[in-house]
Amino acid sequence: MNFKSTLKLLILFLLLGGSLEAQILPNLGQTDRWMKGATAAMERKDYETANSIFRNLIDSGLPLPEEMPYLFAETLFELGQYDNSSNFLKKYLELTGFNGDNYEGAKELEKRLEGPLKEIQACQLCDRNGYRFETCSTCQGKQQLEQECNYCKAKGIIGCSRCAGTGMITKKNIFNIIEYFECERCSGKGRLTCPECNGSLKELSACRTCSGSGKISSELICNHKELPHEH
Ligand SMILES: [Zn+2]
Ligand SMILES: [Zn+2]
Ligand SMILES: [Zn+2]
Ligand SMILES: [Zn+2]
Repeated sequence: MNFKSTLKLLILFLLLGGSLEAQILPNLGQTDRWMKGATAAMERKDYETANSIFRNLIDSGLPLPEEMPYLFAETLFELGQYDNSSNFLKKYLELTGFNGDNYEGAKELEKRLEGPLKEIQACQLCDRNGYRFETCSTCQGKQQLEQECNYCKAKGIIGCSRCAGTGMITKKNIFNIIEYFECERCSGKGRLTCPECNGSLKELSACRTCSGSGKISSELICNHKELPHEH
């Protein structure tokens, strides 16, 4: 094969290769653009923007570049989302082991996270992600609430379980003949007044919004300090 035909073949290969890649991986370009945008945002300390670009990338379902979890963990750290940051950092170290381009940085971030994570654990004012609790507005912090009775689905009555709602009980006598009796539990009505709400359709039960804790997580990152005017 002479030089000219080798060159021709090479060009053909490159052309084919280029178009093949474009067909098989049409979204590689998009991932690249997102990664570039996010790193640029991080460089100018615009972590909110970096965060939303990384979220887009995750939501897209495209394969994540290897260094992405580390960069995202750094971004989340800067935004004070320490628990999230720690999760992505763990993912990164799990996936790349000692071989990641940012292994050193990752180990350093791991150390920087220790303090904030300990503070979150020790704090009673925030959830495990470090978000400040606020009083549940559904129960006003009372934890219990008069709600529609869950047991009878606010119907006030329930089907009698002894007679399966028929009002009748069947028994076989010694001659193997079926005899019918009125159900004594429901007096033959087949239904009973709801034992939970006594037919009032309401019950006092754990607030379903806050699962009875009286508080819900807000979007505010906790500073772990009691506010002087908070009641
Ligand atoms: Zn509540
Ligand atoms: Zn019955
Ligand atoms: Zn009820
Ligand atoms: Zn706190």
